[in-house]
Amino acid sequence: MQSNKKNFLKVKEYRSRLENAEGYGEVWEIVKATVKSSLNERRVGMMLFLDDLPLRLGAYHSLGTNNIVLNRALVNIVEAASKSKRLINSFVYTLLLHEYLHALGRQREAQVRPLVYKISRESFGSDHITTQLAELGPWSILKGIPLDAMDVPKRVIEIVKDFEKADKKYII
Ligand SMILES: [Zn+2]
Repeated sequence: MQSNKKNFLKVKEYRSRLENAEGYGEVWEIVKATVKSSLNERRVGMMLFLDDLPLRLGAYHSLGTNNIVLNRALVNIVEAASKSKRLINSFVYTLLLHEYLHALGRQREAQVRPLVYKISRESFGSDHITTQLAELGPWSILKGIPLDAMDVPKRVIEIVKDFEKADKKYII
């Protein structure tokens, strides 16, 4: 009973944090906190870049770097298609969590995908949109949008400032 109650409170807290998160840095803090609570693993000093990539690619992490590159064009389409901050943040969470697991040493997709699902379910509950995105794939919310026919503007790559605000003291 005690651990059920604790779990319920944890899920409630993560749901509310994700729903209210402002910007990439706050979603990132939730990615790190949920991985810490599910896997007890942590990596600091990551940097986030935004770039306009092909729409079938959500994000990537280059092995041996601290960089995650998120597909800004794709996030913009999700933002235009949905006014729900909960959904947009869940979408970004799913992509960032996937790359964070690569950065933590899980190189294979076959390792990463089930972990994204497990961590999402443990953190937000099985009926939450984040867990559904983990199960069906983040593109499931863009069903009906003709991504292949869309023209993506190519802007310059940008770095997200203060992405790891909370960890600065560890990396100096
Ligand atoms: Zn991957």
